[in-house]
Amino acid sequence: MLEIDLDALAGNWQALRAVHKGAVSAVLKANAYGIGAEHAATRLFHEGCRHFFVAHLEEAIAIRGKVPGALLAVLNGLLPGTESAYLEHDITPVIGSLADLARWSAKARELGCKLPALLHIDTGMARLGLDAAETATLTDEPQRLDPITLRYVMTHLVSAECPNDLINTMQRDRFRLVCEKLPASARSLANSSGIFLGTSFASELARPGAALYGVNPTPGGPNPMQPVVRLRGQVLQVRAVKPGESVGYNGIWTAQRPSRIATVGIGYADGWLRSLSGRGTAFFDGRPVPLVGRVSMDLTTFDITDHPDITPGAWLEFIGPHCPVDDVAAAAGTNGYEILTSLGRRYARIVHGA
Ligand SMILES: *Cc1c(COP(=O)(O)O)cnc(C)c1O
Repeated sequence: MLEIDLDALAGNWQALRAVHKGAVSAVLKANAYGIGAEHAATRLFHEGCRHFFVAHLEEAIAIRGKVPGALLAVLNGLLPGTESAYLEHDITPVIGSLADLARWSAKARELGCKLPALLHIDTGMARLGLDAAETATLTDEPQRLDPITLRYVMTHLVSAECPNDLINTMQRDRFRLVCEKLPASARSLANSSGIFLGTSFASELARPGAALYGVNPTPGGPNPMQPVVRLRGQVLQVRAVKPGESVGYNGIWTAQRPSRIATVGIGYADGWLRSLSGRGTAFFDGRPVPLVGRVSMDLTTFDITDHPDITPGAWLEFIGPHCPVDDVAAAAGTNGYEILTSLGRRYARIVHGA
């Protein structure tokens, strides 16, 4: 059972607003990191959020009706042939290359009006955005931006969750220099962790995703965010296993003593990653219960020998107050982002605060 706490989501957005000096948007890509983009958009719009980001045009179209009049921008750039769809749905492209800019400008000239856009400057990520050469071309020929109403100039931090990484200040300073050479515009810099890098990383618009959904933006320190996701799995069967008998695929766990095994109906097809085999922990009544054996597609097994009160029908907590998403991620060898965006579609979902 997957429970989504939209009150916590709203609280997290407000908490980020209290830290960041400028406005705070919401990044809702990948179905709002797995928690549900429509619910998240509706609640955050109600909360007063007026800037939203997704990765794909289709994701933007799906939530356009939930955030009327708000800026709704697509991070992945302007694919050729999609220009009319952007206009039809009042969605704003994030221009990521001079080719994007040329096509959006052509559309503006065709319509005889200026068109809104964000401009993405690459200051070190080397994925999307104008690279150094394209940026130089644009600062030499700023009239290329004449057909555009520049909403924000943005860049994206490479290692914001590592406050001591020198690339943070390098990107901040590069971004500042480029912005000084471009026509005056509002700026957008920090992601979740960037908001916590100090006021010199503040801008007119922060773009948090993960922190809204409860992932710790300051790894290594206490989590300033509230958990948004609670995942529980129900015990299907409890069985006795004799010493020397193994459990699950490939028999990677063998009982050393007379043991009780609980089988829960959550597996890697539900996003409970196979890398948690023999490593994960669930909680029952606040006490840790070790995962044993392989995580299989639809099932996971736990050693409940020390928990006589766990019987068929009991609910084990997989993600929640005792097992934060960051702890699950650490056990799985990944980050909280991947745990959340992997959450499966088979769970019964309960949305609180909708
Ligand atoms: C995903 C993304 C964000 C949000 O990042 P978080 O670390 O989840 O806060 C912000 N900006 C861009 C460009 C992104 O791709």
